[in-house]
Amino acid sequence: MLTRPIRAGGLTIGGGSPVVIQSMTNTDTRDISATAAQIRALAEAGCELVRVAVPDMEAADAIPGIKKLIGIPLAADVHFNHRLAVRAVENGADKLRINPGNIGGIDGLRRIVSICAERGVPIRVGANSGSLGKNILKKFGGATAEAIVASALEHIGLLEGLGFDKIIVAVKSSNVPVTFEAYTLLSKKTDYPLHLGVTEAGGAYSGTVKSAVGIGALLLNGIGDTIRVSLTGDPLEEIRAAKEILRAAGRRRFGVEIISCPACGRSHADLARLAALVEKGAGHIKKDVTIAVMGCEVNGPGEARGADIGIACGKGCGLVFANGEIIKKITGRGTPGDPSYEESLAEEFLRIAEDHI
Ligand code: SF4
Repeated sequence: MLTRPIRAGGLTIGGGSPVVIQSMTNTDTRDISATAAQIRALAEAGCELVRVAVPDMEAADAIPGIKKLIGIPLAADVHFNHRLAVRAVENGADKLRINPGNIGGIDGLRRIVSICAERGVPIRVGANSGSLGKNILKKFGGATAEAIVASALEHIGLLEGLGFDKIIVAVKSSNVPVTFEAYTLLSKKTDYPLHLGVTEAGGAYSGTVKSAVGIGALLLNGIGDTIRVSLTGDPLEEIRAAKEILRAAGRRRFGVEIISCPACGRSHADLARLAALVEKGAGHIKKDVTIAVMGCEVNGPGEARGADIGIACGKGCGLVFANGEIIKKITGRGTPGDPSYEESLAEEFLRIAEDHI
């Protein structure tokens, strides 16, 4: 769904721009060097917008120091105290995440809106299943998709009532079907950019699967302008997961994409080893390319032909394809399963790949 574009720092969120990858630091924001170091690592991994928690004035006052050390826009996450939000924006936050219902009354909200409008800083609002008010829970009989959307629309209404419209919205639930339903519903009611996420998704494995299902389904339906995969643990995992979700949904490309079959009794090589060697050897390639590594003649030629470059293993050999054509038959040294066999195939394949990419 085409949303209106909203600027945050040097980024555009919405309006058909590439879906922005976000994460959130888990350092103490008051510790400037630790927070900046984590943000730099996140940015290096592919994070494009980072959020930091601002629980007190010391954290708000750490923002200028952090910003000097990082190169991506910073969002301040503030609750319960409008003064912290105002200070965060005065100190250079590029985006604000607040809950207009708990930030200190309408006068406090007015002050926040005024400084955000003056500095061109967008506000992300939203509801999630764990933060709904008693009235809404009662009206909808629980944290349903409709309840979450009604709460988000209330937040939007509060900001619009103060003449503010640089808004980004999220409607997260820890329940994947509810998250899906809520965003689907919201996308029909607003054209503000949508920040996708499954809240409290869990640890790296289960959280990635939950996020992939929820965020992925929405992305495939054309919904979503920025994503955050919430995982308990190292936020770097969030970036890896976000990139894979966007890649799988066909929404972004990030350098080399390896397509490899799971291998079975027909495979003519130790495919796990061959694919790992190719992936490692192609790690420096920055271009957006697909490389297929396939075990036999059943699906191998088809996948290898469809990739930018690919190898389909045969008996003691590999057929190399580039741009849909067979360009060479290469032979491995030794016998399949000997480390030298897959190593020699990978070596030669990568040499050819370099020439064709
Ligand atoms: Fe098995 Fe061949 Fe399919 Fe790979 S391509 S999974 S080796 S049948």
